[in-house]
Amino acid sequence: MKVLVIAAHPDDEVLGMGGTIKKYTKNKHQVKIVIMATGIFARRSQNYKNSTTYAFDKKTTKTMEDKLADLRRDSKKSAKIMGVNDIEFMDFPDNEMDTVSNLEVTKKIESVIEHFQPTIVFTHSQYDVNVDHRVLYNATITATRPTSSCSIEKVISFEVPSSTEWYFPSQFSPNMFVNIDKELETKIKALMAYKNEIRDFPHPRSTEAISVIAKRWGTVSGFPAAEAFCLVRQINNDVL
Ligand SMILES: [Zn+2]
Repeated sequence: MKVLVIAAHPDDEVLGMGGTIKKYTKNKHQVKIVIMATGIFARRSQNYKNSTTYAFDKKTTKTMEDKLADLRRDSKKSAKIMGVNDIEFMDFPDNEMDTVSNLEVTKKIESVIEHFQPTIVFTHSQYDVNVDHRVLYNATITATRPTSSCSIEKVISFEVPSSTEWYFPSQFSPNMFVNIDKELETKIKALMAYKNEIRDFPHPRSTEAISVIAKRWGTVSGFPAAEAFCLVRQINNDVL
């Protein structure tokens, strides 16, 4: 089976479904991860010049390029821990994907789908405080329209702790759960490969919180630890 994971930022794929990704690769399924936004440019405020052209001096540009290269190394390392070698990076602006047309984002996703021909597509929830996450949900829904040539049977959304749960008062309401009891340790290890993204507890992006969240979903689904998903759409050629 071919599984496509469409994430906005480096580390979203691990936070949302690191355990499930590991489970897929353990079972010899083919997983491709696509990271759509750069993951660093929203943190440029220190040197940000109040200009719509984003004119940076050479030193700032170099610093950003180095940070980007470093973050991409972390992403590849993290993917490897989850058993994934196929990871692709797009260059959409971080936390500003709402400035790009839905058409452009959709077309990019469509071209990935056309080449990869996935059976299952995972992406962000529409109930999410992060604008890039919401943009990707909308673009993915459009890009996965069930035409007769479409290979996709399921579209599933995941949560991103420190983002999805803060979209007050709307709520991510999962109806699918995957037992990650044996993969939780790998998920945390994959997250730690992102050396600059981990926070201290009680931040939701702390290793302790990740474990607590997995256990909480476990209490909902009868497993020691679980990841939660929402089935957005399923289309079957045969019986369910
Ligand atoms: Zn994100």
